[in-house]
Amino acid sequence: DPVIGVLALQGDVREHLSVLAATGALARPVRRPAELEGLQGIVLPGGESTTIDKLSRIFELRDPLVAALRAGLPAYGSCAGMIMLADRILDGRSDQQTFGGLDITVRRNAFGRQVASFEEDLHLEGVPGGPVRAVFIRAPWVEEAGESVEVIGRVEDGPAEGRIVAVRQGGLLATSFHPEVTGDARVHELFVEMVRERS
Ligand code: GLN
Repeated sequence: DPVIGVLALQGDVREHLSVLAATGALARPVRRPAELEGLQGIVLPGGESTTIDKLSRIFELRDPLVAALRAGLPAYGSCAGMIMLADRILDGRSDQQTFGGLDITVRRNAFGRQVASFEEDLHLEGVPGGPVRAVFIRAPWVEEAGESVEVIGRVEDGPAEGRIVAVRQGGLLATSFHPEVTGDARVHELFVEMVRERS
């Protein structure tokens, strides 16, 4: 079974660890650079991207993690994790940096700053068995995706209909929403499958 880390600087780390464990992966929290060793994949959780950015530098994880991503470490980012994987960011703090890797432009807090949490059923390409319950919490959306990016999910209803909220590019997967809070492991299973294909 693949060893998959969860970046454990801030955010809903525990939820990701338990969903990953349910898929059969060996899930471990990653706080220190040495804990990146031996991973076949990593999950970047939801939380607050400005905080994750800052802590990654304080904990000296940023450079080794960026290097590992550049070297092809598969990664799945949900919400703030999607922001951290994006090459370009809109409505970020002026000094905010991402790890990058995904050829996308994300807009932070895109659904509106105050009334920004909602749920919706979404069909995701590559996720069989019917729609996924998508929980959005002050979520970003993908404003632009490069040619090598596969769009696997869009908002299907309401004022944001058509907005891109799930993408894949090589070994990278990102969702604007939080599948780790619904008890449905299918998005994590997709990621574990991507990790298996690459290890
Ligand atoms: N708004 C947060 C950010 O910009 C993301 C919210 C979340 O991860 N639920 O990082």
